[in-house]
Amino acid sequence: MAETRETRVLIIGSGPAGYTAGVYASRAMLNPILVQGIEPGGQLTTTTEVENWPGDTEVQGPDLMVRMEAHAKAMGTEIIGDIITDLDLTKRPFTAKGDSGTTYIADAVILATGARAKWLGLPSEEKFKGFGVSACATCDGFFYRGQEIVVIGGGNTAVEEALFLTNFASKVTLVHRRDELRAEKILIDRLMKNPKIEPMWFHELEEVVGTENPLGVEAVRLRHSKTGEITEIPAKGVFVAIGHAPANELVKDVLETHMGGYVVTKPDSTETSIPGVFAAGDLTDHKYRQAVTSAGMGCMAALEAERFLAEQGEGETSLPLGYGAEVANSAAE
Ligand code: FAD
Ligand code: NAP
Repeated sequence: MAETRETRVLIIGSGPAGYTAGVYASRAMLNPILVQGIEPGGQLTTTTEVENWPGDTEVQGPDLMVRMEAHAKAMGTEIIGDIITDLDLTKRPFTAKGDSGTTYIADAVILATGARAKWLGLPSEEKFKGFGVSACATCDGFFYRGQEIVVIGGGNTAVEEALFLTNFASKVTLVHRRDELRAEKILIDRLMKNPKIEPMWFHELEEVVGTENPLGVEAVRLRHSKTGEITEIPAKGVFVAIGHAPANELVKDVLETHMGGYVVTKPDSTETSIPGVFAAGDLTDHKYRQAVTSAGMGCMAALEAERFLAEQGEGETSLPLGYGAEVANSAAE
């Protein structure tokens, strides 16, 4: 039977932003409900070593997210395995519909739906998705033991994926459309020192070539970005790592977005154009897109939601002493 759940704060998303919002909203006694979505734990569950989460020199992405979930739960966040399919922000309380049939009614909403892998949009990429073409090395790398693999892209994700795939592959070719990587220096250094990785500069994927029956990848056809010359190299796996786009489907028609769909928030705030609706993490961040910045924004969103609800006269605020005064001071400057 379809259920209706009421909550002061509904958090949509279970990445670092969502779970951190859960920790803070719980400690503010708001009894938040957090809906996890299709990827419980978010993007970090698709990687291995995370080396820039403060306090952990190295931690596995999935382990970190299990810990964050446990932390939010221990503080009092109710965590629900559901996907929000429809969100009505036209009037308060806000209404969200879950794929499970549950309706969520909330006084405030924290959007933390993050980002999803981008695809090139080639027909051959679509055809071989799941049959040799992937966007997740940690999920699918194991299938390519002893094989030749191609990674497309030049950012942190592409370089990390290429490095990770050397655990399985006989050779990894990193195909990038320029001759300069935008990945962090430490990762570039590791890439250049890895004998199994060969960068192919100024090349773009033209076509994935493979067999029909069974469906499988055999080669990639690459186009030189400058000369247009076509080269074909063998590959059993193709990993597309060309960046991520904000998961804005629920709100793109009602909230202002910019820079390719990122939700606009007020400066130094997670407030959106609708009072009571806050956005945190990669959904709103076209610049940093890191776990730690997402977690920071999740904290801000919960504190701002708490203040918003207190101002609406629907609850007592438990913001730390001095928090309001500090804001008043800076506003007066
Ligand atoms: P996400 O982690 O993207 O989580 C979004 C959440 O929203 C998911 O749980 C999803 O299920 C949920 N959701 C989406 N739509 C709905 C819906 N309709 N209903 C309910 N829930 C929904 N950053 C670092 O700092 N260090 C790293 O080493 C690092 N490595 C990375 C490696 C890879 C391969 C990738 C892809 C990213 C990496 N990042 C790293 C970036 C980091 O993962 C992101 O910045 C961070 O996860 C963003 O957190 P978030 O909470 O905004 O969203
Ligand atoms: P990104 O930084 O946006 O890089 C995307 C790469 O793909 C760029 O090199 C880009 O080329 C290339 N590209 C984009 N569209 C393309 C196309 N149509 N054809 C060919 N190449 C294309 O994305 P990302 O690497 O996924 O990283 C996303 C965010 O997550 C970043 O903020 C990153 O720092 C973070 N992240 C962090 C870590 C870490 O801290 N260890 C790990 C992974 C991700 P150009 O360079 O020419 O534009």
